Amino acid sequence: MKLPAPAYRQAQGGASSRLARDRSWSLLPPRGMRHIAYIGIGSNVGNKAHQCEQGISEILKLDRHRLLARSSLYKTQPIGYTEQDWFINLVIKLETEMDAPTLLCSLKKIESRLGRVKTHRWGPRTIDLDILFFNDDRIQTDELTVPHPLIQDRQFVLVPLAEIDPDFTHPVLRKTVQQLLEQLREEQGVERVPRSRVP
Ligand code: AMP
Repeated sequence: MKLPAPAYRQAQGGASSRLARDRSWSLLPPRGMRHIAYIGIGSNVGNKAHQCEQGISEILKLDRHRLLARSSLYKTQPIGYTEQDWFINLVIKLETEMDAPTLLCSLKKIESRLGRVKTHRWGPRTIDLDILFFNDDRIQTDELTVPHPLIQDRQFVLVPLAEIDPDFTHPVLRKTVQQLLEQLREEQGVERVPRSRVP
């Protein structure tokens, strides 16, 4: 059906100005399905902040990914296995055309490229990349659980998540990130690192 002239002009103008604002996508072939993923990043070995930044740049080198938001860096105390050094953690929000299993596979490759050596569960790590949320999807396979099952127990995830998207609703618990953070009363030692003091 032919659109009336003014609406047609408006639709065209909208699309082209969106493209102009968004040059990273404008070079790509036609759109595939786009997803929103939140990735938790952490490191507690060597130059932790540098490794987290390396993790982000490697993720952004993947095809068809765009960074929508990133939190500050946080200095955090280890939980679970506590006989280890403090961590740097942050969260990023991505637009991606990968499905969740493919994204996980790419994240694992980045972890090994950046030299992650498996010690033991919750033990020291040069880089840890977790899929926290993937759209509103619920995924349960041998390899992947989404939403990540420990989000609601971890201030080092909830604090940076709340910085970038406090109103995002956990698709299983039906509470916003802010509400999950408020209900986690215990102090876990999460401290924002001012930009001028990034270690
Ligand atoms: P970790 O030692 O915490 O990095 O755990 C890595 C393992 O957790 C990998 O073998 C993944 O297959 C699995 N896993 C399950 N769900 C997730 C998720 N949402 N994000 C990242 N890894 C996951």
